[in-house]
Amino acid sequence: MGVDLHLHSTASDGTVPPELVPSAAHAAGIHVMALTDHDTIAGVSAATASGHEIGVRVIAGCEFSVAAWWGELHLLGYFLPLDDADLEAFLVRQRKDREGRITEILTRLANGGVHIKFDAVLAEAKTGSLGRPHVARAMVNAGIVGSVSEAFDRFLADGKPGFVPRQLVDVTYVVDLVRRLGGVTSAAHLKDRGTRTNLTRLREIGVDAVEVQHPAHDARVSSRLHQDASDLGMLMTGGSDWHGAENPRRVTLGAVDVPYAWLQKIENVHRERAA
Ligand code: AMP
Ligand code: FE
Ligand code: FE
Ligand code: ZN
Repeated sequence: MGVDLHLHSTASDGTVPPELVPSAAHAAGIHVMALTDHDTIAGVSAATASGHEIGVRVIAGCEFSVAAWWGELHLLGYFLPLDDADLEAFLVRQRKDREGRITEILTRLANGGVHIKFDAVLAEAKTGSLGRPHVARAMVNAGIVGSVSEAFDRFLADGKPGFVPRQLVDVTYVVDLVRRLGGVTSAAHLKDRGTRTNLTRLREIGVDAVEVQHPAHDARVSSRLHQDASDLGMLMTGGSDWHGAENPRRVTLGAVDVPYAWLQKIENVHRERAA
């Protein structure tokens, strides 16, 4: 049974609407998927409903951007309730912050002679959670760059002229919130940040799992994370971080190997916590 626990849709910066992600997953041999859009759960109910029709189980997820001791951390939350007022209020604030940051990015770009209107970015994101990829797509549309990757490489990546850091909420806040709601958290695509020291501290603050399998993790990184997670008694997750077929990173949905047993373990934690 194919499992992919990290997928995006147009509810954030993916290119495929949430109701069409399950059929893409099904075509890739995936029967259990988590929709993990950036700072939103707005796509989950549509994905769940269409998944139900074709036999794809959809787990309610979210990829939270939070502050860790080294800088930005992406924290995956799973088994989230869709009707919790505290969670929604928090996510609304996060998305407001994303909007403010995009405005600042556009100001920086304008100071450098690159003029993109906020409405042009909004036209890309529609009602979705705003992100730099929407700015990048607006820049492609305006003919300023030839591709989304070029927009990041020249303007939007950390250290480039249009980069604006976010004022992120501390990781402990989101860990506590998700746990209180019966959910489970996993530290996403840690790459070289996934040191034993960092994993130990993440475990201490209540992070349940480590995203071991991810396209940014080569065999060496994932086997090290696997070893450290098991030594530390942390659970494991994995996913393709697919953003749609036209995404510049061209990852394949379902391309990473996520054992069904990993899902069962995080689900058991959720069941105990929610009881
Ligand atoms: P933001 O959430 O606004 O900080 O934007 C981060 C998102 O941009 C990530 O989730 C990716 O989807 C995308 N992204 C980050 N770096 C790149 C890159 N170099 N090329 C293409 N997309 C990228
Ligand atoms: Fe993204
Ligand atoms: Fe991420
Ligand atoms: Zn992601």
